[in-house]
Amino acid sequence: MLRRSVLAAALLLAAGGAFAQPAPRYDGPLFDAHLHYNEEAYGGPHPLADVIGRMQRSGVRAIVANSRPNDGTKALADAREAMRAAGITVVPFVRLYRNRADYGGWPHDASIVEMVNRELAAGTAAGPYRGLGEFHLYDSGNANGPTAKRLMQLAQEKELAVLAHVDDAAIDLLMAHAPNARLIWAHTGIGGAPVERVRALLLRYPKLMGELSYRPGLTEGNGGLSAAWKALLSEFPERFLVGSDTWVNGRWSDYEALMAQARRWLADLPPATAQRIAWGNGAQLFGLPSPAPAASARP
Ligand SMILES: [Zn+2]
Repeated sequence: MLRRSVLAAALLLAAGGAFAQPAPRYDGPLFDAHLHYNEEAYGGPHPLADVIGRMQRSGVRAIVANSRPNDGTKALADAREAMRAAGITVVPFVRLYRNRADYGGWPHDASIVEMVNRELAAGTAAGPYRGLGEFHLYDSGNANGPTAKRLMQLAQEKELAVLAHVDDAAIDLLMAHAPNARLIWAHTGIGGAPVERVRALLLRYPKLMGELSYRPGLTEGNGGLSAAWKALLSEFPERFLVGSDTWVNGRWSDYEALMAQARRWLADLPPATAQRIAWGNGAQLFGLPSPAPAASARP
């Protein structure tokens, strides 16, 4: 009897303690699959040491690096000693944009194909480019532009991933050009395509993956996953990636907070699913080994 009441008291204490606990968080490695290092960042308040420090403090162990112009990606790739020391693998992508004018004009601009081919031939200090993008299609019809079509076919031929900021209609158009291309849907639709539509696209295109920065409806007010997205991520644990989307300097100054937000919603998934989306899917896609535990700068 005494035993039982002691046990009950202990359980009550444990339950009370649970309410006082901080929000749960995924604590393993992160693969940031949507990272930009644009000229406003590297030429401004976020030099290499700053961004590497932010990644390291966030427990980020690999990045898809791309930038406007591609010099930012090359700077990250060139920083081999610093990246090795921080335990971060750089997976370089060719950005299609030399300047802001290219954001709108690229789908019809043949000189972009030449620039991409030059970059692919040159490679980077971190090894060959592994993907193309991020690119944007503000009008999904531009997915049928000659350069958009050519680059999708090039990606398929060379087994390059493609990071595309597009709507759901453009997913169908792009995949029609290159059905075996590895398309990573930036934000999994920043316009908030319905979950059922996302699900249908994942079923139709087995190599389509979704990156989750800025995704409307992913989380609820407490920072945890919404029920609809918890169900979708649980149904397709091998098809999603985490990203920061450091497209402006404000995202860099918030970098640690953005990664902490990802750790919060990842914790609402079963641990194996969280680990896949946080790290395993990106690592598998680009053939990275499991990272050694970080020696310092735990997130
Ligand atoms: Zn972006």
